[in-house]
Amino acid sequence: MKVGILAIQGDVEAHAKAVERLGAETAWVRREKDLAGIDALILPGGESTTISKGLERVGLYEPLETFARSGKPVLGTCAGALLLAREIENYPVRSLGLLDLVAVRNAYGTQVNSFAAVPDVIEGRPGPLEGLRCVFIRAPQLRRPGPEVEVLARVDGWPVCVRQGNVLATTFHPELTDDTRIHQLLLEKA
Ligand code: GLN
Repeated sequence: MKVGILAIQGDVEAHAKAVERLGAETAWVRREKDLAGIDALILPGGESTTISKGLERVGLYEPLETFARSGKPVLGTCAGALLLAREIENYPVRSLGLLDLVAVRNAYGTQVNSFAAVPDVIEGRPGPLEGLRCVFIRAPQLRRPGPEVEVLARVDGWPVCVRQGNVLATTFHPELTDDTRIHQLLLEKA
């Protein structure tokens, strides 16, 4: 299995290491042709304005959308999650519209408001991501999820991990801890 990682800007290496620890191959995606032969795709965190400009420059918006609409699994983390949203608020950039929700940039504040937390326990049921250490770095908030959006984890009541069909997103950075549950969720669908 080969997992493509969008390598325009952001936390590319750490995602590659997480995927390789699970025994899959990785490939960097910088051009449309890099998507050939890829079974799953990761859009890493970073700076969505920078990543967006890069996507426009190399003409990757349409190819990424086509890839996702073909049904192959896609994971977006932090800035990557923003890029998947239907709509972005607070300095919006062009998004792919693959997740029916609104992503609000830097909703927890600036870099100094970065933090780690574990998912909420609701009615005694922590869910499949119980105890996962979620690292938030200038994270967005995901608001107004549509009926197709499944919320897999919340922190302080806000969705931090969501899935809509083959598209998975986290507002935290799963590549920064040794817990590979999020990457496993991606690979399971591939
Ligand atoms: N705040 C960044 C943005 O709006 C995302 C931060 C991240 O990916 N860690 O693009």
